[in-house]
Amino acid sequence: MPMDAEQLRDHAHKMVDFIADYYKTIQTFPVLSQVQPGYLGKLLPDSAPNYPDSLQNVLNDVQEKILPGVTHWQSPNYFAYFPSNSSIAGFLGEMLSAGLNIVGFSWITSPAATELETIVLDWLAKALQLPDDFYSSGQGGGVIQGTASEAVLVVLVAARDKILRRVGRSALPKLVMYASDQTHSALQKACQIAGLNPELCRLLKTDSSTNYALSPDVLSEAISSDIAGGLVPFFLCATVGTTSSTAIDPLPALGKIAKTNKLWFHVDAAYAGSACVCPEYRHCIDGVEEADSFNMNAHKWFLTNFDCSVLWVKDRSSLIQSLSTNPEFLKNKASQGNMVIDYKDWQIPLGRRFRSLKLWMVLRLYGLEGLRSHIRNHIEMAAYFEELVGQDTRFKVIAPRTFSLVCFRLLPLLNSEDHGNKLNSDLLDSVNSTGNAFITHTVLSGEYVLRFAVGAPLTERKHVDMAWQILQDKATALLESS
Ligand code: PLP
Repeated sequence: MPMDAEQLRDHAHKMVDFIADYYKTIQTFPVLSQVQPGYLGKLLPDSAPNYPDSLQNVLNDVQEKILPGVTHWQSPNYFAYFPSNSSIAGFLGEMLSAGLNIVGFSWITSPAATELETIVLDWLAKALQLPDDFYSSGQGGGVIQGTASEAVLVVLVAARDKILRRVGRSALPKLVMYASDQTHSALQKACQIAGLNPELCRLLKTDSSTNYALSPDVLSEAISSDIAGGLVPFFLCATVGTTSSTAIDPLPALGKIAKTNKLWFHVDAAYAGSACVCPEYRHCIDGVEEADSFNMNAHKWFLTNFDCSVLWVKDRSSLIQSLSTNPEFLKNKASQGNMVIDYKDWQIPLGRRFRSLKLWMVLRLYGLEGLRSHIRNHIEMAAYFEELVGQDTRFKVIAPRTFSLVCFRLLPLLNSEDHGNKLNSDLLDSVNSTGNAFITHTVLSGEYVLRFAVGAPLTERKHVDMAWQILQDKATALLESS
């Protein structure tokens, strides 16, 4: 029997024990997996088993063969990319969702899945003090997407179709999209999928003079010149908390320009949106009032296990016009009577998971105050790391820190030919090869920069201290050998 309740109880208890032990011993694993490409093919058979195996044998294989190839995102020594939080509440929500295993594309397929999603996203909109237009009680509402990439794609497609309805479909090759050169590459992918002219996807240049934020003047000039050239500006994406350096685009000024020029204004706050539930960070999204859509990844910094990307729109009908289909086999009275939300029409796939359960459990089991202290704790540790870097004259903080990411680099020796790019890349490799810390990099103004992102739920100050010690020791070794 694939689903016998007593066998489930027995096996699931064993699995929970396995996972709890994993978390207890997580620091004993190298945080960045040290395996070589193709390692697993050498360890597993080349065809599926014909007959059932025991759970214990599978768990033994997980321990011996799979875990060495895992990069431990939940390790307290993880400081790479932007962390992706797990929590007990998020985990339990995932478990419940897997247990119920519904496919909630239309309201009728599980009314609770649709209605809980709507309610929880209204709660979160309130916690973020989003404008009323984003609430489900008006023309807008929230929807959980898998990732920020899907979120930006669906709003881009909605915006594209909206403008084409106004100016005619033949204008597609003339549509112009604007964002800064710091915008996540997810937008570029969305433009490719949406069939936009790649030459008209304008990633406007930023530099250190604006701390890598998009300049409203640069945007205005680009729009004027495009209009003069007979093109059709239609979409602006601003970011609050860019991936490279957590730059904050000036939403109020950009929103004004978007409004004047009738652009769809999307705000990507995939990482930093979570911080805006803290009153002292809410100002970072001031200006969201002018946005048509707003996105944050609860799976990044909001204790909600991957995946859970939250998107709000002011005008849900735009999404629905672009994404809805209504085949006979899905028709039902509630949908036909326009009495309900069918989230299948707000997203790319038809099928959808019961993701709101985990967000609901996170909000209930930690409360907004619990989430705020989680965020503040990380920001304090990042500020502490920034201080440590500032005290060692061999290093320099490269961009101002606002949230929990510190961008810094080891200063090159005077005779360096490449401004220290190789030195910093070597430093990164040598830190990561220890297995005791994992950091990643970016490039700002042509310089290779190290990123230290605090955000794993288990990280404490002692882990920050240890990572800094490793960085200092490896820097000393590199400088001595160069
Ligand atoms: N936008 C920003 C600002 C990000 O930092 C990221 C990922 O780090 C994304 C978008 C893409 O996120 P996802 O993996 O959810 O598509």
